[in-house]
Amino acid sequence: MVEVSYLSLMKTGELKERAERAKVYPGDCCCCPHRCGVDRFSDERGYCRTGQYAMVSAYGPHFGEEAPLVGINGSGTIFFSRCNMRCDYCQNHEISQGDAGVEMPPEMLAEIMLRLQDMGCHNINLVSPSHVVPQVLGARRHLQDFAYLWYITAGVTTL
Ligand code: SF4
Repeated sequence: MVEVSYLSLMKTGELKERAERAKVYPGDCCCCPHRCGVDRFSDERGYCRTGQYAMVSAYGPHFGEEAPLVGINGSGTIFFSRCNMRCDYCQNHEISQGDAGVEMPPEMLAEIMLRLQDMGCHNINLVSPSHVVPQVLGARRHLQDFAYLWYITAGVTTL
């Protein structure tokens, strides 16, 4: 059976190293091509208005994706606020640009992933996470054996 690549990376310690390397970026943020250069560790905000913690607008089992991803129990979706694209035509505009949500440290983000797993979700589906990839990697380190992690992105990232 083919092993999910990030599980291999976790076993070798490479995932931890990559998460550490990614943490460098928010200190002089160039996580995406906006390259704001703000210090997000000090909670400075750039174009995406996101500081040191990811803001989560909503999460839960989601059945609106392709059937193989949804399965029987749904895809464990986490919607991040304050997307770095800010597209006028965004179908999730209220979520991606609204300020509703909770800023979460990595431990809390990891807790949500575990909750989704407990609900029977087949994977973790990250929506608009390009500006919080370091935070997601930080959360992932708190988990030992979650199955599939994937994300929906407009591709505007430098990581
Ligand atoms: S992730 Fe946010 S703060 Fe960082 S470069 Fe992109 S828009 Fe600016």
